Amino acid sequence: MGVDETVHQIAAWVVEAERTLVFTGAGISTESGIPDFRGPNGLWKKVDPKLFTIQNYVADPEIRKRSWRARLDSEMFDAEPNTGHVAIARLEALGVAPIVVTQNIDGLHQAAGSTDVIEVHGSVREFVCLDCAARGPIEDALERVRGGEADPACPDCGGILKTATISFGQNLETDVIERAFAEAEKSDLCIAAGSSLSVTPAAHIPRIVGERGRLVIVNAEPTDLDFMAAALVSAQTGTFLPALADAVEALLAERV
Ligand code: NAD
Ligand code: ZN
Repeated sequence: MGVDETVHQIAAWVVEAERTLVFTGAGISTESGIPDFRGPNGLWKKVDPKLFTIQNYVADPEIRKRSWRARLDSEMFDAEPNTGHVAIARLEALGVAPIVVTQNIDGLHQAAGSTDVIEVHGSVREFVCLDCAARGPIEDALERVRGGEADPACPDCGGILKTATISFGQNLETDVIERAFAEAEKSDLCIAAGSSLSVTPAAHIPRIVGERGRLVIVNAEPTDLDFMAAALVSAQTGTFLPALADAVEALLAERV
């Protein structure tokens, strides 16, 4: 199939589906300037993932100080949603894709206008205390780092603060991942965009939907679930998803 036929076929599936779940990974945010982990310019080509374990973070104040300094310089806080995020929010507004499950921690789906986003790996927009679970806006913690506190302590209990994200070695939040699984069980079409689909249990979400109905994969490189995809689109998410939203909108307009 050519690109145009593919986009029209997938748009028809979106319109036909009872419930479409959009699943995204780091690839959808590379066009916003945030590097992914496993793509050609991924973070894992530059740093050792072992440094990012929760055990190291808790045990070593130097790692915490390094992490806070890195957060101050992080491209995540200044990044803007790109055309891919906007297209996904458009699908929701068109009434055909009510739910986004994302592995991303950057908050860009919400910034683009998606209103129901399940963040299975948490968010950098908040801090959390590892001792008492107090939370607050990340900007409050970053402000203290800028003010000279290299490793700011919890304002409530003095405990260790971290971004409210799931680090290596840390369990997912049960209620969040359970809701994502429940949504997968209700959906018959999954559009998986910008993910290598290799991080479990998150990657079970598109697999479950694919087993019940159809899985569409939009990714620049092969993924672990290509074998079960109803359609594989090797394209930039920021180019393909707007074309898909246009095609869906055109189909819906024909119907009325
Ligand atoms: P990944 O790095 O394993 O895979 C990203 C995939 O996207 C790669 O296969 C790459 O080829 C593809 N890709 C990159 N840019 C693309 C584009 N513009 N269009 C189409 N495809 C593109 O990412 P993952 O599957 O999300 O797993 C990585 C883990 O890292 C996740 O758990 C996530 O929590 C975390 N992470 C998040 C961010 C973020 O929030 N933006 C960034 C880096 C890592
Ligand atoms: Zn605390």
